[in-house]
Amino acid sequence: MSGESSATAGCVLAVIALGSNLGDREATLERAVVALDGLPESSIQAVSSWHGSVALTLDGPDPEKPAYLNGVALLQTGLDPAALLSSLRRIELEHGRERDERWGDRTLDLDIITYGELLIMTPDLTVPHPRAHERDFVLVPWLEVQPDAELPGHGRVAELARVLREGGVS
Ligand code: ATP
Ligand code: MG
Ligand code: MG
Repeated sequence: MSGESSATAGCVLAVIALGSNLGDREATLERAVVALDGLPESSIQAVSSWHGSVALTLDGPDPEKPAYLNGVALLQTGLDPAALLSSLRRIELEHGRERDERWGDRTLDLDIITYGELLIMTPDLTVPHPRAHERDFVLVPWLEVQPDAELPGHGRVAELARVLREGGVS
């Protein structure tokens, strides 16, 4: 997407994972992309297609739960990581996100996968996202928009996705 926001966009590229398994999933994800693009000093550079995946619960994959649509967006942003996280939480809430059980069903989940090369470990925010490397629903759409992507601390995303696909341990 382009427009006025891109003229003022900051210089860090953040990788954002989007997911939804309740309501009109595709409409919610599309609206979330528009909201991300509208954040201050921010501009969407690319958005993957939406990929279906089985719901992941604390007990493992659960085909009885509503399935997810997942995707990845590349966001150029001048927001610092804390401001970006609070913006993502606000967008989640605006799209009906309720927080009850961990990994419960949700209308919208927005996670920061990477923020440039930065490593962050605060009580509120861990970047790179600590479970991204083991999630095909993150890695596969990410590769679609950034084939040469690297996940700091884990290496090439293409290789991580290959290992997952072949059922190995990364
Ligand atoms: P998972 O993190 O395994 O994908 P989740 O997305 O369902 O789980 P949430 O309920 O959306 O988890 O978020 C719980 C908290 O995780 C958030 O309030 C936020 O403070 C924290 N958090 C830590 N690191 C990140 C990150 N990289 N991106 C988004 N939230 C994060
Ligand atoms: Mg998540
Ligand atoms: Mg989340």
